[in-house]
Amino acid sequence: MSDAHQGETRQVLVGEYYSNILLVSRRNAPLTTVSDKRAQWYVERDLAEELTETERTEKFPRYSRVVRLKFKAKLEDKCDPFYHQIIETRCVVCGGKEGLTLHHVVPSVIRKWFPDEHKNHSHGWCVLLCERHHGKADEVAKEIHQKEITEMDKKISQVIKDLRDEWAQDFIKRNGGLENVKRLYKDKFLTLKPQHVPEGFLEDHNPRGPLQPNVWQKCLTKAASFLQSVFKSK
Ligand SMILES: [Zn+2]
Repeated sequence: MSDAHQGETRQVLVGEYYSNILLVSRRNAPLTTVSDKRAQWYVERDLAEELTETERTEKFPRYSRVVRLKFKAKLEDKCDPFYHQIIETRCVVCGGKEGLTLHHVVPSVIRKWFPDEHKNHSHGWCVLLCERHHGKADEVAKEIHQKEITEMDKKISQVIKDLRDEWAQDFIKRNGGLENVKRLYKDKFLTLKPQHVPEGFLEDHNPRGPLQPNVWQKCLTKAASFLQSVFKSK
């Protein structure tokens, strides 16, 4: 969550992103630009026709390809020049044409909470950027929200830690106190049948508390053998 683009791999665009094929009404009113695929779809179904070279150069010289619809489209009533402008496939910052990727000006971490009608009309909120400027664009966007996200992540981590601490204390209580809990884990560990557990491990040793008789004995034996060795050497 600390990175708005975490896990997203940007797909580098190949070829022209904006195909700039103009779709016009039966009366040659510009409607919108369409993709190659969509233009083809209309033509193949005889819903549209290609303008001849002469007609195109005469009426729409800026477009390399123009397709005229054969039916009245809904679009005719509300056509906005925004939709039929010629857009170049280049970085909107530096104009570079290499390694272009799509950039949503409003980052996905925020945008995903927008209502559908805003998401569906995001064409104008999505720009092309070269690799360098995509990195820069992400950085400047983060200047707006990253501090808040980092602070929120910290709070979330603290809440998780507090909850775990609370749980652990409750776990000890529910399992009959610390002695029982230790036994519980010890017994589980012993199911591994450990063959080399050092002497006295998995038992409590409290230096200030009373020593267990067997430990006393071992200490005395050790002390005796030490004294013996000292006297022998003399
Ligand atoms: Zn650039």
